[in-house]
Amino acid sequence: MNKKLIILGSGGPFTLPRFFCECDTCETARREPALRRTRASAAILGDEVTLIDAGPDLEMQLERESIRRIDNILITHWHYDHVAGLGAINYPQVMREWKPIDVYVEKSLISHFAKELIYLEDRVTLHSISPGDTIALPDATIEVVKTAHTEDSVGYIFNSKSRIAYLVDTALPSDETARSISDADTLILDAMFDSADIEWRHFTVHGAIDFWKSSGPERCILTHLACHKWANWHWIAGFTCKERLQIERQNPGLQFAYDGLEISL
Ligand SMILES: [Zn+2]
Ligand SMILES: [Zn+2]
Ligand SMILES: [Zn+2]
Repeated sequence: MNKKLIILGSGGPFTLPRFFCECDTCETARREPALRRTRASAAILGDEVTLIDAGPDLEMQLERESIRRIDNILITHWHYDHVAGLGAINYPQVMREWKPIDVYVEKSLISHFAKELIYLEDRVTLHSISPGDTIALPDATIEVVKTAHTEDSVGYIFNSKSRIAYLVDTALPSDETARSISDADTLILDAMFDSADIEWRHFTVHGAIDFWKSSGPERCILTHLACHKWANWHWIAGFTCKERLQIERQNPGLQFAYDGLEISL
């Protein structure tokens, strides 16, 4: 089997369409299921299955991609859209007698398991990680880097035949992180808002493109897409599909992620 990274979900903190939104972006996604997005997560598929985050759409994402086991989970940070699916790993472990799943989580977030997920006690083996650490798995050697989102948020760089950086949920990262990703082949990057008139701990599409161009990787895939813009304290419809294609054409090497997108590792 060729090793690959698959985008399980390319959306932001809400699915697209959002159940409470009737903007043009959401109505278009209702009419065209291919434009829908589930919450941001990814998986490395090779000798093992390694998930990056386990959001609330986890079970549907695994079913859609016919992924029938989980060996490792790498957590980026403790927000609902990235960890709310963790509870779902309880049942298959009981029913299929899986061995404990190795879960890698930033050291100050480990305590969440004892407080919120105590029923997973026998089902996971927790590994405490920090930026600067390296995780050696059969399919890739993984570097842990700091993202600019929460105090404890991290990103990952996967090294196999190629070098892929996954920085979901981040604003402009530190110089140290920027240096670490400079020789990556592919950068997978947060671009939550199509545009925004206030500061967030996320990139906008054009902010992400500017950072990618200054950082070095040849290819950039934008993910964690809300597909809305933020103006005058309102979330409103963002780029149309046509505008998105135009942005891709104007920026060779750039691609907007979609659910199911595969990248060789
Ligand atoms: Zn998020
Ligand atoms: Zn909408
Ligand atoms: Zn977040």
